[in-house]
Amino acid sequence: MIKNNGKFIIKFEKEDEEFVKNLNWKRLDNGYNKAKEFFEYEGEISPIRINLIYSPEEYLFFSGYQKHESWMRACATNNNTIIIFAPSIVEKYTIHKKDDILETLIHEITHYFYGYSCMRKNLTKLPLWDEGIANYIAEKKFDYEIDFEFSTLKNFTDHSSKNYIGGYKLIEAIIKKFGIEGNKRIIEFLKNSSLEMSENELFSLFKKIFEIDVNSLMELKGGIKR
Ligand SMILES: [Zn+2]
Repeated sequence: MIKNNGKFIIKFEKEDEEFVKNLNWKRLDNGYNKAKEFFEYEGEISPIRINLIYSPEEYLFFSGYQKHESWMRACATNNNTIIIFAPSIVEKYTIHKKDDILETLIHEITHYFYGYSCMRKNLTKLPLWDEGIANYIAEKKFDYEIDFEFSTLKNFTDHSSKNYIGGYKLIEAIIKKFGIEGNKRIIEFLKNSSLEMSENELFSLFKKIFEIDVNSLMELKGGIKR
């Protein structure tokens, strides 16, 4: 079955009919607009296609991943098509809750805006910032402090969950300190950084743009537990 509201097109099976009927399109649209504004993106990237997935095999088919892990829930694939485990079966195959689906969709939509901004505005895609901004726009709540320092401004490779939580806390701390101006500084940071830069260079760039070093900012804004 397909429901097309112009901006979002969702493909689903009968067992999720009720869910789709009650979907909060307004909140989804607000999330879309918030992501668009964050990246100061001109123009639309809609329609966003939402493909509800019903098995790990189907997830692998559309994502191109080799193996499905229970923490994998959704993926922003080509042609603005988000694949996501259907609410009716998400709790069976993943560790995620069916009630988080809107949050997850907004998270994935934010990845598209970041990705297109990399192409159009020369931003650099850094996983820490990518996941952090996506969680921030999706208003994912992490109301606890993190217990690790920032050893990287690119990508935590030891534990990828640090990109999600640490990235979120980082964006939150920046917005808390600078308000709307923080948004602009984040874009400036992503414009002036590159994957070739060393961590030291990125930490200096951070200090130059935010006028504080990252761990002090996190501590100041209550993001790191001491
Ligand atoms: Zn993500």
